[in-house]
Amino acid sequence: MTSSPRRIIILGATGTVGVRALQIIEESPVEWQICAVSAHSQGQQLGSLVSSSTAQYLTSSSSEHQSLIELLRTGDYDICLNAIVGAAGLPFSEAVLSAGCDLALANKESLVMAGAILMPLAAKNSATIVPVDSEHSAIFQCLNGEDAPIKQLFLTASGGALRDMPLDELASATPEQALAHPNWSMGPRITIDSATMMNKAFEIIEAHWLFGVDAAQITVLLHRQSVIHSMVEFIDGSVIAQLGPPDMGFPLHYALHYPTRQKSTLNGFDAGLFSELSLRQPEDARFPALALAHQAIEAGGDAGAVLNAADEIAVEAFLAGDISFADIAMLCEGALHNCCADSCDTIDDVLAADQRSREYCKKQLSFA
Ligand code: NAD
Ligand code: MG
Repeated sequence: MTSSPRRIIILGATGTVGVRALQIIEESPVEWQICAVSAHSQGQQLGSLVSSSTAQYLTSSSSEHQSLIELLRTGDYDICLNAIVGAAGLPFSEAVLSAGCDLALANKESLVMAGAILMPLAAKNSATIVPVDSEHSAIFQCLNGEDAPIKQLFLTASGGALRDMPLDELASATPEQALAHPNWSMGPRITIDSATMMNKAFEIIEAHWLFGVDAAQITVLLHRQSVIHSMVEFIDGSVIAQLGPPDMGFPLHYALHYPTRQKSTLNGFDAGLFSELSLRQPEDARFPALALAHQAIEAGGDAGAVLNAADEIAVEAFLAGDISFADIAMLCEGALHNCCADSCDTIDDVLAADQRSREYCKKQLSFA
């Protein structure tokens, strides 16, 4: 008996994660039907990436944005990979979950901004959010088949491109220095977020929503090798970790084939790479962004959306040479303290918070 192909929609198909996902699909032992792929503006590039005759190619111009949302709302596919960068990914995640379809989620911003809305929506519509972020994929895999309560989650962090830069030079690090990530090859925004550790701050918030744990149960550990992708300590004290080389192919392969495991051409064990694994506490002074995650979780409501939007503006300004490296966390902290509203119940409230935070940051930048 032959099974029908697995139908997928890939959002952000021209990005680092999207392109890697297309490679994983090409090498997969499962038969796939790519229903649609999207990108921000590179329509032609989409055609060259995906040769499937059944695929629709959509960019996020205003007319196609709405068609894409409508397509996602039909639920006429098995899984959607959201590999869009930034707040722009949120409405698409919401549309997938509203349709009751499974969401392979690389766009962590969706949960950072609106975890309080998306998690209940997924549960209501029996849709599964399978994380693609490597740390959350690791934790998801460690938790698979477990119903024991979690004592602590350990999120590992490489420390980014500036992890060895003397503290007194850090404030004036250049975009070029901050973009040179030692282990992972990623899009520019997440690479800068790795250097500030704002990426890890977002991942704390992401883990809080995905796994239902308090911020106090999430510990960040510096792990230079990016081999231990994260760990779970259960109430009996046992610690389970997931390991592998730093390649997004692994979490993508897992997420796309979930709930099954399928053969791949990836090689997980690497004696050289695994021979020396180190873990240590990050220094607070070097990574002020980490404290902002705890503040955002404690504040609740729209604080995650405010923090994400501020970081998008700050990273853009840093890459344009308008602000210093140290200003990124400062601008985000200012937004967090000045832009949160009292209530946040709907996606529109979340988007309003996003807008408020962007306007606040742009105003601050115009004074700088
Ligand atoms: P990228 O910059 O390489 O690619 C982003 C993709 O999103 C592109 O296809 C682009 O066309 C599309 N896009 C950008 N703006 C858009 C908009 N306004 N509307 C619609 N589409 C838009 O980014 P990336 O590194 O592949 O990261 C994608 C997501 O995955 C991010 O949320 C990131 O945090 C997350 N992630 C990435 C990695 C990684 O290794 N790169 C690891 C973990 C999580
Ligand atoms: Mg990650």
